[in-house]
Amino acid sequence: MHTPIKTPLFTGRGTCCDDDEYPLDPQELCPEAHAALSASVSTMLESVGEDPMREGLLKTPERVARSLAFLTRGYRQDPEEMLKKAVFTESYDEMVLVRDIDIFSMCEHHMLPFFGKAHVAYIPDGKIVGLSKLARVVEVFARRLQVQERLTQQIRDAIQDVLNPKGVGVVIEAKHMCMVMRGVEKLNSVTTTSAMSGQFITSESTRGEFLRLIRQ
Ligand SMILES: [Zn+2]
Repeated sequence: MHTPIKTPLFTGRGTCCDDDEYPLDPQELCPEAHAALSASVSTMLESVGEDPMREGLLKTPERVARSLAFLTRGYRQDPEEMLKKAVFTESYDEMVLVRDIDIFSMCEHHMLPFFGKAHVAYIPDGKIVGLSKLARVVEVFARRLQVQERLTQQIRDAIQDVLNPKGVGVVIEAKHMCMVMRGVEKLNSVTTTSAMSGQFITSESTRGEFLRLIRQ
């Protein structure tokens, strides 16, 4: 029997401290959350039959807590604020596409990694955004516990909300370690999800162009 840890862990934003105490670096947790997370990793080690006090594991709870803070830093970042910082007025009105953006995320069902590529496109309507921000918005949402379907839609919605373009198209192709390493053990299965808006839904030629460009 293990005593359950009472300190709250993530509370949605990933904080259990006052804003003052909260670290400015999104890759870090506040001290209370960090301590609670380390303690729970120790409990996990015991629960699987390990001895958390043996030499090789002494620093593991601390390391896992730091690693998880890094892997979930997206909870402590605001994707729309980040996008808004690089919006410019521009009359360009053809498709803008950033292809093959690497994604590393964790599935919320098993907390195991899934990773692959995201392709993000939009058709501006008077406003464009710095290209690197498209990759950054993918990154912010990916660094949270996710399901691939929601991740795809959140990226579309953030771009749609901030830029109000004529349309947004997002496709993600990813391999899920929860399918590869456990359960069905399907080593080579790739999951594809897509989320579109505006002209990417209403215009077959826009959608066709997008899909053709990402397959080139
Ligand atoms: Zn999973």
